[in-house]
Formats: sequence, C-alpha cells, structure tokens
Amino acid sequence: MAPLPDSILTIEDLAEWSFDGTALAVLGHPVAHSLSPVIHRAALAEIARTQSEFRNWDYFRVDVPTERLGEALDVLDARGFFGLNLTVPHKILACGLIHDIAPAAFRYGAVNTLERTAHGWRGHNTDGHGLATAVSEELGIPLSGATVILLGAGGAARAAAVECLQRGCAALWIANRTRTRLADLLERLRPVAGAIPLGGFDPSSPPAGLPPGALVIDATSVGLLANDRSPVELARLPRPAGVFDMVYRPAVTDLLREAAALGLPHANGLTMLVHQGARSLELWTGVPAARTVPVMLQAIRAASGAT
Ligand code: NAP
Repeated sequence: MAPLPDSILTIEDLAEWSFDGTALAVLGHPVAHSLSPVIHRAALAEIARTQSEFRNWDYFRVDVPTERLGEALDVLDARGFFGLNLTVPHKILACGLIHDIAPAAFRYGAVNTLERTAHGWRGHNTDGHGLATAVSEELGIPLSGATVILLGAGGAARAAAVECLQRGCAALWIANRTRTRLADLLERLRPVAGAIPLGGFDPSSPPAGLPPGALVIDATSVGLLANDRSPVELARLPRPAGVFDMVYRPAVTDLLREAAALGLPHANGLTMLVHQGARSLELWTGVPAARTVPVMLQAIRAASGAT
C-alpha cells in the first residue's frame, strides 16, 4: 500500500512498497526540510488537468544515509521509480554510482536529477540553471560579469561554480571549511576557468585582496538547522552587491539576517528550488519548464508562508 503523501520513506519501507502509478522522489539526508514534493505535486496536478497521462504521477521523499546511496538507487530502480532528485549530501557521490551522466552535466561533477533508462540511472544537473535564473530574478544580478564569492565546496557549490564560470563571471572566489575539499574543487575548476581569476580562502579569515561589490552565494548546508550560525561573517568582507542563500527552509538564515542588518539586497533559495525543479520535471515529462514555473511558485509561496 502507498504511504501517506507527506510521510518520509526509508530504504526499509521501500522493500514493502508499491505504487499504482509513476513515482518520482527526492533523496537526501536530512530530507525533512525538502519542499520538492510541494512544487512537483502542484505542477503534476496542473499538467494532469489537460494531459490525462500524468494523472497517476506522484512525488515522494526518501531518507537515504550517505553510505546507503548505492543500495537505495538499486532498490528504487527495482521498484520502478521513474525519476529522482538528489539533495544534500548525495550530488557528488551519485556520479560514481549511476550508469551514465548526460554530456551537458558532465562538467558539473555533480548531479541533482536522475532519469531511469533501460540500462540504469542517467544523471543531469539543473542546479546551475536554477541558480542563474533565481539570482537574476531575485537580485537583478546576472552571473555574467559578476565577481562571485561562493561559500561551500559540496555538490551544490560545484554546480554553482561551473555555472558562474561558463556564464563568464568576472572572478570567482571560493571559501570552504575543509581545506582539502576546497583544493580539490579549485583543481577541478581550473580548466573551466581559463583566464577568469579563480581563488580560494578559509571562511574564518577572508583575505585582504577580496574586491567590493561581489555577489555572495551560500552553497553550504549551514542554516538548515535553526541554531546554525552564518558560514562567513559578512561584515568582514568588502561590502557585497548582494547575498543569495541556497537554503530556503528556514526562510531566513543567520546569513540573510546579517545581510538585512547591513542593508544588502538578499534572497533565499525558494526561487532556485522552483527553477531547478521545473527543469527536472521537463526532463522527466517533456512538459516545458515555462509551463510549470508559475504553479510551482504559487505552491511554494503558500507552503513556506505556512511554515
Ligand atoms: P553537500 O554536498 O553535503 O555540501 C555541504 C557543504 O556545506 C560543504 O561545502 C560543507 O563544507 C559545508 N558545511 C556543512 N556543514 C558546515 C558547517 N557546520 N560549517 C561550515 N561549512 C559546512 O551539500 P549540497 O548538496 O552541496 O547542498 C548544500 C546546500 O544547498 C543544502 O542546504 C541544500 O539544501 C542547498 N541547495 C538548495 C538548492 C535550491 O534549489 N534552493 C539547490 C541545491 C542545494 P565541508 O566541505 O567543510 O564539509
């Protein structure tokens, strides 16, 4: 029997699980914060009004610890899941566990969308598109020509860094708590950066040469917990042009509180979630993202206003 729509599934639940329709899901650890089911269910209901083939589609959440991702992907394949989203901390790890990666996603070195094929899971990345669209809509800052200070070196940060470089940012500075992870990311990005200046630093001691007027993008998972402090002290950076936090739940993180106190334009990750989600749904259904973005936005604003 299918579980209640709002429950969180575990790998153990999947052993007994069946669903009489087309199932999609987001995998994460934690995953309780994810509002992906809200946007995808709203969009599926909207497209099913005129396209009956989508009436039996639904979207679930599955809690998958890091060390069980491979096992979970096999079980979800065996249970006939049609498409998956990956959230923290699975985006990089999944690259080594899936059958193949779509050429357009190869450079990112991280995947957030999986499509089931006859041979296994194929990975895509829609985070870069979601980020660029959201930053432009929310802060009026195009990545092209921007000086970017990126916080984090995980899966979301990889996609953000590649997107900034591919769109021709003016310079990219990356800060991460774990030095080795930062060094790995910088190494990986050098061929993509070409002549674009690329540097790294420890978030607890920003270097003197950072430029003013940067776009600060937070791609760390700091902020997901209510007591999390900001991953960088904004007041110690030369005054930025704007601050974008990928975290959307809670809606106001410590970093965004600090941005507001400094009078800086700022936004959370809700709009990014919608744009990356609409692009994922397009990959699975063929329905253009432009058709589902408005209903996703409406649903997420209602849901986040209520939480
Ligand atoms: P991830 O691969 O697990 O990476 C987590 C990053 O956060 C790493 O850089 C890690 O640094 C850093 N971090 C974690 N705890 C920290 C702490 N206490 N202090 C300092 N740094 C810390 O996760 P991800 O998939 O990249 O996701 C990152 C965040 O972006 C999540 O909150 C996710 O929900 C959000 N996101 C939102 C959207 C959206 O559509 N709005 C899309 C993608 C991601 P270390 O290397 O030092 O561990």
